Amino acid sequence: MGSNFKFEIIGGSPFGPNSMIRHDLTRYGTGPTLAEGSGSSFTYVFGGSYVPELWYARFYADKNNNQQYDPGEPMLTSDTFEVKLKKVYNISVALSQNILGWAAITPDNVKEVLNRAAAIVLRKDSADDYRAAVQFNLSGLFSFPATPSGGLQPDPASTEADRMKLFGYADVVILNSLPNLNGITLDYDWHKILLAYREFATNPNGAQNLATFLVHEMGHGVGLPHRGASPTLMAEGVWFGDNVINLNESNSYDS
Ligand SMILES: [Zn+2]
Repeated sequence: MGSNFKFEIIGGSPFGPNSMIRHDLTRYGTGPTLAEGSGSSFTYVFGGSYVPELWYARFYADKNNNQQYDPGEPMLTSDTFEVKLKKVYNISVALSQNILGWAAITPDNVKEVLNRAAAIVLRKDSADDYRAAVQFNLSGLFSFPATPSGGLQPDPASTEADRMKLFGYADVVILNSLPNLNGITLDYDWHKILLAYREFATNPNGAQNLATFLVHEMGHGVGLPHRGASPTLMAEGVWFGDNVINLNESNSYDS
């Protein structure tokens, strides 16, 4: 959606200083050509009704200046790539009033956590770390007075019976205490996520830590199991900042 891509030859022209460099952007296999022109860089905006297909950019030295590629003219092509539309998750959040500092938590605080969670999914730290085009929107936020374990809205949610009362109360329910857990997702359903974070409003790293827990649980919510060890998004346990995702994980967020 309005994705603006820039293509350029990095490090200068390999074709020589007097080459007439032209470029085009074409569907892999057979046309159409989306863009063409002269110069060693160009930009293109993929539109909102775009259908995913493979594309590649090409630069060539138009030695006979006929404004089209002819066999034998020096050429550089990019890898093929696919442009994905952004997947938007509208997330409602419920906060237990047992969370230390819950009264200081504002919609902006929660939006910051969601933005940080999206940024984790969007990271690309290595060649085998794949991006997902994901946005997490805050669609609703409310707090609720918690009851002791065994009550209707239990925090701590000490037992499975406690947790079952809270799943689906909002897409994401944040509690002060889930004994022995940072978060849990029911039935691979991102509408049924519980998170524990008692330092949400008071720890300088609270927003980032909570985002890490959230995006891991969202991974379960879009169908991902645990895999491997740190540094991966879906490693079991607590990892701060180590969130490499693979292609399969990226595709799960996009689908
Ligand atoms: Zn997990």
